[in-house]
Amino acid sequence: MTIFSKIIAGEIPCYKIAENDDFFAFLDINPVNYGHTLVVPKVETDYIFDIDDDHLAKMMLFAKRVAKAIKAAMPCRKVGVTVLGLEVPHAHIHLVPLKTEGDMDFRNKISNPDPEKMKQIAEAISENFE
Ligand code: AMP
Repeated sequence: MTIFSKIIAGEIPCYKIAENDDFFAFLDINPVNYGHTLVVPKVETDYIFDIDDDHLAKMMLFAKRVAKAIKAAMPCRKVGVTVLGLEVPHAHIHLVPLKTEGDMDFRNKISNPDPEKMKQIAEAISENFE
């Protein structure tokens, strides 16, 4: 069971944004920028491009709804999309609110984000999720 499956199962806490039958969204615990969100499928697959076409298309459409909520809740110009997957072997899409290109620099993560700020941001994004 991956760490993300444990989060989805409620065994590990997270700053939850949204979920449906197939996907789950929550804040990255070491964000590159406040509002950095992960979208993960509930069924474990390591590599995102091993997911079947229909499920991958649905994952991107779910991520689109989450991105709209991030854009509504966070001051930003656009929401950036990245897939890395080098650390956690459970496919996920990174969504990051951007003002500048530097806001998407994965070498500069916030190692100790303010818990209260994370909680408020998760609530604000969640409230804007449609
Ligand atoms: P990568 O697999 O390279 O895309 O990186 C995995 C991402 O998951 C990193 O940005 C981590 O900060 C994030 N991450 C790892 N564990 C957790 C967790 N328990 N809650 C939220 N985000 C996490």
